[in-house]
Amino acid sequence: MNVLDQLPSLNKLIRQLQKVPYLASKNLYRVATHFLQMSDEQMKEFCSLLLHAQQQIVKCPICWAWQEKDGSCQFCASARRDKTLICIVASWQDILAIEKSGAFNGLYHVLGGVLSPLDGIGAEQLSIALLIKRLENIRELIFAFNQTPEGETTAAYIADKISDKNIKITCLAQGMPVGSSLEFMDRLTLYKAVAQRKEF
Ligand SMILES: [Zn+2]
Repeated sequence: MNVLDQLPSLNKLIRQLQKVPYLASKNLYRVATHFLQMSDEQMKEFCSLLLHAQQQIVKCPICWAWQEKDGSCQFCASARRDKTLICIVASWQDILAIEKSGAFNGLYHVLGGVLSPLDGIGAEQLSIALLIKRLENIRELIFAFNQTPEGETTAAYIADKISDKNIKITCLAQGMPVGSSLEFMDRLTLYKAVAQRKEF
């Protein structure tokens, strides 16, 4: 007998949680239990913060990093950053890792993923056209992708698209283990990878 068949309300919650990427399936029941045990107060606050964040946080129209709807992009609008360098990352959380390393003070460009035909992610799903529009006065583009075949393919695709422009293209130095993810790299390794970047 399936226990959840007798608990339709909980079953619905579990089905929604199953749709949340990155939430390991073995943790679904723990997460559901955590929600069920919240006080009414905590639950109300949680739901309202979730809704508020979703409504208030938008993509910067230039670089696709998250920004507050009523504010400005902390990178694009900053007077202290080198506007001739763009570091291209797959997702916003990669910016967090690079910023923490302290190795970079230029601008960013968030692609919104990497090319992955099998998952239906082509160039149109990513912000590549937007990137090409902002290359004036840029002297260097840095590819900071995870060391995966998709990351390599994406870098090669972009390099090919801009081969007619006179822009130096670099990528992170060796030292990044194959298959590794920027997000989970330690600060020093990432610092070295950015600081000692090499010609692509
Ligand atoms: Zn921006």
